[in-house]
Amino acid sequence: MSTLLLEAERVKSYYHTREGTVKAVDDVSLDVENGIILGLAGESGCGKSTLMNTLMMKIRPPLYLVDGEIIVDGERISKMERKEIKKKIWGVKISLVPQSALNALMPTKRIIDFIRDVVKFHVDVSDGEIVSMARKRFEELNLPEDSLYLYPHELSGGMKQRAVIAISTLLNPKLLIVDEPTSALDVSTQKRVLKLLLDLKKFKIIDSIVFVTHDIAVLRQIADRLVIMYAGKIVESGTLEDVLSNPKHPYTAGLIHAVITPEPEIRKRGLVSIPGEPPNLINPPSGCRFHPRCLHAMPICKKVVPELVDISNGRKVSCHLVKA
Ligand code: SF4
Repeated sequence: MSTLLLEAERVKSYYHTREGTVKAVDDVSLDVENGIILGLAGESGCGKSTLMNTLMMKIRPPLYLVDGEIIVDGERISKMERKEIKKKIWGVKISLVPQSALNALMPTKRIIDFIRDVVKFHVDVSDGEIVSMARKRFEELNLPEDSLYLYPHELSGGMKQRAVIAISTLLNPKLLIVDEPTSALDVSTQKRVLKLLLDLKKFKIIDSIVFVTHDIAVLRQIADRLVIMYAGKIVESGTLEDVLSNPKHPYTAGLIHAVITPEPEIRKRGLVSIPGEPPNLINPPSGCRFHPRCLHAMPICKKVVPELVDISNGRKVSCHLVKA
């Protein structure tokens, strides 16, 4: 039986702004099992990055955790002080490579100096041990050892991304979250980043990955399970194969039809974009948040929020068209 590395239960995290409360993550429950790559997809602005920061408890005003529980490898981090989380959880049990990772490296520090600071914060080891730890990890991941002694501006975008991922996993966290790791890269560099992530799992450096992207085609190459997010809520989840071959939520179907996929019927039909725009999360639509854009909307959809229900073996959908 698989164990859960991460459990999020009915999580709400909102931005309190002058314009109003942005319900960026609104009643989201999510599990990440040991050994899987979970792909989280949705359009820009649907709350994916806010959800990832919330799962890490990287929460600073104007973002607040309003409700819910987050458990990482058995530790209820939603109840912990930031100082304790920083020392005991980040980098050790769970690591996040944020969207802005390419700018995370200090321009005035060589890669090895940055690594030294990160490792020393968590464990009491000598400089020599840190250097051999970093060399070993770069070698395992096929990254040139010389790059440890370079400044960030001396690395290409793809190399920098791979170095940041390698550094984030130096202390062998069980779970790695990568937020849009391939979106700024060309196709061949994207492939190298995907291979690096697969190698991290293959060599058992990490157990599980949450891969966040707006690009469902990338997830097809790497994910075991898919979670689809729309306007601050999860609307569908299941195995990659089930969700892609038989999407149950109209939004999921729209996302799949908006990219070229190998399914013959979709190739034949061609690309179809989802009409309309994602809603403003200060004042989201009533009932199902997708109803203003949904071609199947019914009167109930405007009034009642559809629950995310298990329709079979962990396949979950939140839509009034689907019965449990
Ligand atoms: Fe469309 Fe209604 Fe389903 Fe929402 S609940 S996706 S509006 S059919």
